Amino acid sequence: MNVIFLGPPGAGKGTQAQRVCDALKIPQISTGDILRRAIKEQTPTGLQAKSYIDAGKLVPDEVVIAIVRERLAMDDCKNGYILDGFPRTVPQAEALSTFANIDAVIDLDVADEALVARLSGRRVCLNCGATYHISMYKDTKCQKCGEPVIQRDDDKPETVLARLTTYHAQTAPLVEYYEKKGILHAIDGAQDMDVIYNTILKTLGA
Ligand code: AMP
Repeated sequence: MNVIFLGPPGAGKGTQAQRVCDALKIPQISTGDILRRAIKEQTPTGLQAKSYIDAGKLVPDEVVIAIVRERLAMDDCKNGYILDGFPRTVPQAEALSTFANIDAVIDLDVADEALVARLSGRRVCLNCGATYHISMYKDTKCQKCGEPVIQRDDDKPETVLARLTTYHAQTAPLVEYYEKKGILHAIDGAQDMDVIYNTILKTLGA
């Protein structure tokens, strides 16, 4: 199963993708996590990506396409994967179609007002990518790997609105793009997390 998780920032893509990947024993490929790691390690890609991420803009297509192409060629992707946060533009989706066969696209739909509240309370582990919300998790260390959990710079209010604008302008058209291909499954992302998780598994026939 090669699956894309689509949806605005804060819709729960990362959280759900992690759970589904654990259950199906396939890798979660998050371009956001890969880019944040590159920034932390100050690689050339990281240095190039940082200003875009900090401004709530998208990193240029050619940069992320190269990252994903290389990642999907790795051995652990042979039995399937979940793409979390890629593609985010129509040119990315078109490029993807030249080197991957996508079976299903899960679109998590959440209203903007709810997203702002979710993103501003979100905390993330930069080491393993686990995400938490301050309303439910008060610890300063990651439950999974013990590293510190922090607020992402781009989850601060001034950048959140820019990211939502970017989503509506550049990523939302992918809903129609994949609908036309007949592989889009829209799921109400405002529902309880367990309900969403079970709906995803059922949709994927897992
Ligand atoms: P995320 O963790 O998925 O919310 O991604 C964080 C940031 O990384 C985004 O706001 C973008 O600046 C950048 N990014 C992640 N994935 C992509 C992508 N597929 N295309 C362009 N930029 C991306």
